[in-house]
Amino acid sequence: MNNIIEKLKKTQDLDDNELRQLLECQNTDDIEYLRKSAEMVRQEHYGKDVYIRGLIEISNFCKNNCYYCGIRAGNKNTDRYRLSSEQILDCCKNGYALGFRTFVLQGGEDAYYSDELLCSILTQIKNNFPDCAVTLSLGERSYESYKKLYDAGADRYLLRHETASPEHYSRLHPDSMSHENRLKCLYDLKKIGFQTGSGFMVGSPFQTTDNLIADLRFLQKLKPAMIGIGPFVSHHETPFADFENGTLELTLKLISILRLMFPKVLLPSTTALGTISPTGREKGILAGANVVMPNLSPVMFRKLYSLYDDKICTGEEAAECRNCLNNRMLSIGYNIVVSRGDIKE
Ligand code: SAH
Repeated sequence: MNNIIEKLKKTQDLDDNELRQLLECQNTDDIEYLRKSAEMVRQEHYGKDVYIRGLIEISNFCKNNCYYCGIRAGNKNTDRYRLSSEQILDCCKNGYALGFRTFVLQGGEDAYYSDELLCSILTQIKNNFPDCAVTLSLGERSYESYKKLYDAGADRYLLRHETASPEHYSRLHPDSMSHENRLKCLYDLKKIGFQTGSGFMVGSPFQTTDNLIADLRFLQKLKPAMIGIGPFVSHHETPFADFENGTLELTLKLISILRLMFPKVLLPSTTALGTISPTGREKGILAGANVVMPNLSPVMFRKLYSLYDDKICTGEEAAECRNCLNNRMLSIGYNIVVSRGDIKE
């Protein structure tokens, strides 16, 4: 297996057969060799720096009905909330004081946030915090809408492709949602000039090794600046309530593979990873991740932004989360840095 890992490190690529062997490999020495190689590449480009993004969950209203997601429209057993411009600006102010230089506005697909409203929010954030980057993660919108948001100052956009296989996509989403449109949105975002992020859940229902290989191939084609992956975690009010969660082991292995394939990519160690394992986020960094995204949302709404069960960090103030993550990173010899954290050229 070491020669396959070396090849991946040297060429940033493998053939399907080699990828399959690596994805299905259970040998702990081989997996440790993969992890170590990924950590070395990470350190070549980013040293021991960890970039932070302040996550602001602006709305849990959503028109979609993704089978895995707890804020799906069909979930009638949740209270819905949305943040006002003032509340969002307040989160940024709080975050700025704590050293955040990137704010991520994430939410369900909520038509309340018109282009006009979002552009006005973006203008205010950019005026108040000119040295900060703003990332949006608000789902599928039209080319024209994305263009307006970009022109109003948004720097980055996160839109996970979720799965590169149309057949698998149709098992995770209702017929009203289209795989084709999701991919079109990603190409639109890139064309407009956004630093674009994509990604997928690890261990989502019905996922096969071939699906994962297709996900990696799609990312090679898209060449995103950011790749978000995390384990699938079931939510009790969804059609996937009874499915097993994705595993720590496979998620970490994929983080390492992604680091070797995309040496400079921005790769978060996600909250979902911290949810399935108490030290999941630390392990993600040690496997090659270079970003963490602590929560800046007002505490009173945190529990309502419940994409999956048992989500961590729903009770703490932003300052506590920031402090806790700081200590977690220090405990493994890494440092959170005050920086926009753009991708290295
Ligand atoms: N509406 C936005 C934001 C979605 S939430 C959009 O469409 O992009 C961000 C990500 O959370 C999703 O892309 C999905 O990959 C992940 N997610 C949703 N439900 C999840 C679950 N049950 N377990 C793990 N991740 C989940």
